[in-house]
Amino acid sequence: MTHGINILMYHQVGHFAPMREHRASYCRVDRFAAQMAWLHRFGYRVLSMDEVVACIAGQAPIPPRAVALTFDDGYQNFHDEAWPILRRYGFPAIVYLVAGLVGKRADWVHDRPPLMPVERIRALRREGCHFGGHSTSHVKLAGLPAERVRAEVAGCKAALEDLLGERVDHYCYPYGSHDLASVEAAAEAGWRSATTCARALATVADDPLTLPRKAVAYGDSLVGVLWKMHLKNTPKAPPIRRPGNGLPA
Ligand SMILES: [Zn+2]
Repeated sequence: MTHGINILMYHQVGHFAPMREHRASYCRVDRFAAQMAWLHRFGYRVLSMDEVVACIAGQAPIPPRAVALTFDDGYQNFHDEAWPILRRYGFPAIVYLVAGLVGKRADWVHDRPPLMPVERIRALRREGCHFGGHSTSHVKLAGLPAERVRAEVAGCKAALEDLLGERVDHYCYPYGSHDLASVEAAAEAGWRSATTCARALATVADDPLTLPRKAVAYGDSLVGVLWKMHLKNTPKAPPIRRPGNGLPA
């Protein structure tokens, strides 16, 4: 089996009626609790994104059964449902925030769920939650004019660092949408990692600015999640990489 890190992707965690569409964006809270209990019981090593970056760069060995937990968009239900469970186990987690929509609603989702306000984000940070960037307005970056890409990628970093009063190092492409120009813009803006929606294990062969992730979806039982983690490791499409994965030659 390839040695790597399962970076898991969550969006909303909570109580949801059965659904047919957008299932990758929802996780039932009872299933989330079971997944976290499983990771804890079977000794999975949940890494922070700082630790993921160190492993991918070869500065630290990838521990066996390595996992990272990522939450896109910054939904209120992260605070209400997911965070209490994460705290129970002391698992690190990162929430990727849309810098221009903090405290507003996710207009791109059909029922416009609320996004966490500034004070809630700051309180979570004090409790140990990690935050990253997810653009300023939740747009697909691939193919956008260079100026707009820069505003989304660099503007997001500046705004979140202002909001949190510290460096914010980890980025996530909305919808996983990226091309070489947006990856280079992320590098130029100073992001140390960036995650996509390419479904694969993250390994030392990856560019830290195009890290793959695996979505945990509404329909996934515990067995389904384990299958995704341990057996389904083929990326849907070859990843976009900078020459040499951005490392100096
Ligand atoms: Zn998103």
